[in-house]
Amino acid sequence: MSYFLCDEFQKMEPYIPGEQPKDQAYIKLNANESSLPPSPRVFDAVSQSRIRGMGHYADPHCKQLRKAIGDVYGVNADRVFVGNGADEVLGFCFMSFFSPRMKLCFPDITYDFYRTYAKTNRIDFEQIPLDADFHVNVEDYIATDRDIVLANPNNPTGLALSVSDIERVVAVRPKRLVIIDEAYIDYGNESCIPLTEKYANLIVVQTFSKSRNLAGARIGFAIASKEIIEDMNKIKFTFNPFNMSAFALAAGSAAVQDTTYLEKCVHSVLATRVRVQKALEKMNFFVAEPHANFLFVSHPYISGGELCKMLKERGILVRHYDEARIRDYVRMTIGTGEEMDKVLQQLHEILQEVKACES
Ligand SMILES: *Cc1c(COP(=O)(O)O)cnc(C)c1O
Repeated sequence: MSYFLCDEFQKMEPYIPGEQPKDQAYIKLNANESSLPPSPRVFDAVSQSRIRGMGHYADPHCKQLRKAIGDVYGVNADRVFVGNGADEVLGFCFMSFFSPRMKLCFPDITYDFYRTYAKTNRIDFEQIPLDADFHVNVEDYIATDRDIVLANPNNPTGLALSVSDIERVVAVRPKRLVIIDEAYIDYGNESCIPLTEKYANLIVVQTFSKSRNLAGARIGFAIASKEIIEDMNKIKFTFNPFNMSAFALAAGSAAVQDTTYLEKCVHSVLATRVRVQKALEKMNFFVAEPHANFLFVSHPYISGGELCKMLKERGILVRHYDEARIRDYVRMTIGTGEEMDKVLQQLHEILQEVKACES
């Protein structure tokens, strides 16, 4: 730590992303990225002529991308905010609407960025425990008067809430802000975007990093009331007016229009997910009901940490959280069919090894 770091940041705990080791070629299933390429339209959009124009700033209002997203979701562009990944969009939401000491809540087991951001910015946050099966208890969120951030489906559990349950939470207190992080919504779930027509206290955040195979391009967006989006843009213009690169704007506009390709990719991930889940259950794994592009699993004979380590030795990265309630689990992204065949083969061998040690 340098002499100069602000006092309030000295106890900061940064978000820890899934590791990206380069010592060998790994099957990378630890960050819920996609092994598939982006839409073919992205290859055309980020072309030579685009590179030639890089001497100029891109549109700070991001009009084209906001309109493209709005068209796909049936909302006006003035109700769409875009950012450098959903993380930045969430950052601008928090920055715009949560000042120090404001009261916020989210589950004890969820996307860790909410906690790290709240902590660094001295927001008074409460982590509401998921129930014993890792479900969000909706009644807790109806009862609280705190602002709310919920990932739906949740990460790392993969469990989801229904839109009608979320609507009950949003409707009960119109002066309380509810942010729904829909990073994994495209994997067969129903979005809360239509509710933003009706409720002025709801922000829905999504990303191009998962279902649109563009994690490296950093594109996320929020849909909410026109007034909320105006506020967020105001904050953006005080902080980083040119937050989106010309590459990201071009790639995003092209990708979002290709809904056929999105459906094709999602369909392939879901088919592989069904197959892998069945195979894992045959091997005696517990698999939490999946709603995203990953599985949250545990096995009676091997701890999450041990499993993560043994897979890494075999060239496969999965995510393990060294936290009390989920220490027995690992989170495994669904890769390509071929990648998952290798994973299943290695898991089979690991379990044989573990059994041999026991007997
Ligand atoms: C992956 C993820 C994000 C981050 O998305 P980016 O657009 O890559 O910043 C946000 N929220 C949740 C719940 C995620 O899993």
